[in-house]
Amino acid sequence: MNLHEYLGKDLLASYGVAIQRGILVENASDALAAFEKLQQETGTKFGVVKAQIHAGGRGKGGGVKLAKSAAEVEEHTKNILGMMLKTPQTPGGMEGPGKLVSKVLITEDSYAPDFNACKEFYVSILMDREKKQNVIVYSTEGGMNIEEVAEQTPHLVHKEYIDPTLGLQPFEARKVAFNLGLSGKAMKEMTSFITKLYAAFLGSDASLFEINPCLKTADDRIIAVDSKVTLDDNALFRHKELEALRDTSEEDPTEVEAKSYGLNYVKLDGNVGCMVNGAGLAMATMDIIKLSGGSPANFLDVGGTADAARVEQAFRIILQDKNVKAILVNIFGGIVRCDRVANGIVDAYKNMGNINVPIIVRLQGTNAELAKQIIDESGLEVHSAIQLQDAADIVKRVIA
Ligand code: GDP
Ligand code: MN
Repeated sequence: MNLHEYLGKDLLASYGVAIQRGILVENASDALAAFEKLQQETGTKFGVVKAQIHAGGRGKGGGVKLAKSAAEVEEHTKNILGMMLKTPQTPGGMEGPGKLVSKVLITEDSYAPDFNACKEFYVSILMDREKKQNVIVYSTEGGMNIEEVAEQTPHLVHKEYIDPTLGLQPFEARKVAFNLGLSGKAMKEMTSFITKLYAAFLGSDASLFEINPCLKTADDRIIAVDSKVTLDDNALFRHKELEALRDTSEEDPTEVEAKSYGLNYVKLDGNVGCMVNGAGLAMATMDIIKLSGGSPANFLDVGGTADAARVEQAFRIILQDKNVKAILVNIFGGIVRCDRVANGIVDAYKNMGNINVPIIVRLQGTNAELAKQIIDESGLEVHSAIQLQDAADIVKRVIA
């Protein structure tokens, strides 16, 4: 689950991480009031209007604007609110449709009073699965696309691996600050910034924090000017207050619907829909689709219960994807008997009435033979198989 910039900053601030101050608004008159409030509280002369969408690179697309007066705050807010903001990270990139902006963050100007005395850094925290450790990735080349920096000047991207049993050690936080070329007050500030940031990362069960830019201000404070926060969905049950911040309007609508049914669905860009019970079997099924010349349109784990209602929900989700040319149902009937699943598939198929792609059903396990018979005798355009390879061969034939 991703958080908007303003919510990510709220989360950081709740752990004491210094942030660029801002107020969220949804219209121009509130923007003016927010700007006035920020001027009074922070003494800022200018303001920044920042589009709140789940994508980075907003600056490049015209979604981040410096405002040098109240009139400019109003003007930029009016222009940005309601725009379809295209950034390199919105779906389809700069050629795509963009994302509708319905909220903007009005912030203080953190680069005042001397833009040139500021320094932008890149700081992120994520988990390195191979090393089984969290890693702090950081660079002096902040404010830019880090992928480009990593490609062109890899020596400017540093990594600090954190032992999970020891946690972040003070010397490690100091090393980050040192490698960023800081000394004196800025060094102390960065050490404290990294320490609090790491605590926030652990405390919120995040899977990614990306602060770009992390700014050294003209008076040597270190603050988060931007935030990209991704939380681990599997840990949200113990963060109800964070789960409540989910903005489903930013997510893939089919994935949101699947989640509401308790289905584990991830959209992919192939042409063979998959309905499988168990994540491991789902992966194996996607592999065999690939080996037989197709490509999976989705990952979908229906879980333990594959009754008619659930199968129907799964069919509906899969069929929302217009690229789907065939659906491979691959269910292992262990606790749930195959004949029950087969009846569920036939019922769901009849009930929906509008399934116009071939369905290949492979049922294995308890009562598999009976299940095959039920499918074969249903008179529907459903192909049955017991061996996975047979099912894959049918898939190959029907999508050819
Ligand atoms: P992103 O483009 O989506 O990553 O949005 P950011 O929040 O990173 O902002 C983009 C750029 O806007 C930053 O790299 C800065 O150069 C600029 N910017 C952000 N905040 C300020 C500010 O307070 N003052 C000034 N002068 N520029 C800012
Ligand atoms: Mn940024």
